[in-house]
Amino acid sequence: MVDRDIEARGVRDPRVLDAMRTVPREVFVPERFEDSAYDDRPLPIGRGQTISQPYVVALMAEAAEVQPDDRVLEVGTGSGYGAAVLAHLASHVWTVERHGPLAASARAALQAAGCKNVHVLHADGTRGWPEASPYDAIVVTAAGREVPEVLLEQLADGGRLVMPVGDRFAQQLLRVRRRGDRLEYEDLGAVRFVPLLPDVENGTEDEAEDEAGSEVGGATGADGVG
Ligand code: SAH
Repeated sequence: MVDRDIEARGVRDPRVLDAMRTVPREVFVPERFEDSAYDDRPLPIGRGQTISQPYVVALMAEAAEVQPDDRVLEVGTGSGYGAAVLAHLASHVWTVERHGPLAASARAALQAAGCKNVHVLHADGTRGWPEASPYDAIVVTAAGREVPEVLLEQLADGGRLVMPVGDRFAQQLLRVRRRGDRLEYEDLGAVRFVPLLPDVENGTEDEAEDEAGSEVGGATGADGVG
């Protein structure tokens, strides 16, 4: 999968490729999809959410330029797979998931995969995780109309934030780099992710979205499906 689907599509960072080869994706997919764990596509994990396509996980990890001493924030834990890949590249990962059951199963999967440097928080990730900030890299795995200001405030000097920005149908993967008070924006291409949503506990949740509403497979024409 890594040679054919990830390296061939342009991910070059040897540390990212090594992480993709090392982290066992089958630990993070529901049992009934284990046979598909190494297909390069998103898979349903419940609550209308998906485990990201491996290519997209690799693309975002490379775009975030994660270094061995880095402190990383991930918004949207989902299955925990992306956090495990980031944890392989960084010193510590703090990851936030708004769905309690997903946060719990991600925590269990990360433990089963032997990831000891990941901290999972059940909360609204659009607020970041200020207690552990600033972060050298912030990876947002769900799409929003704009980059939340509070996340930019939690980005260290020299830090990179990577996030899909757009509407439900068309999004660009953006990289924002902080240089002191200045923020530099780069467009890394078309992608398609599930939406970044407000806090579940605030009552905006529609649980009927479960599975039926998930955007699996995503024949979108975009470069990657998160
Ligand atoms: N990185 C994940 C991909 C998960 S998909 C993986 O590898 O499996 C995006 C996730 O973002 C979903 O689990 C969704 O519930 C979560 N999410 C959406 N809005 C959020 C918010 N405001 N705060 C935290 N998580 C959020």
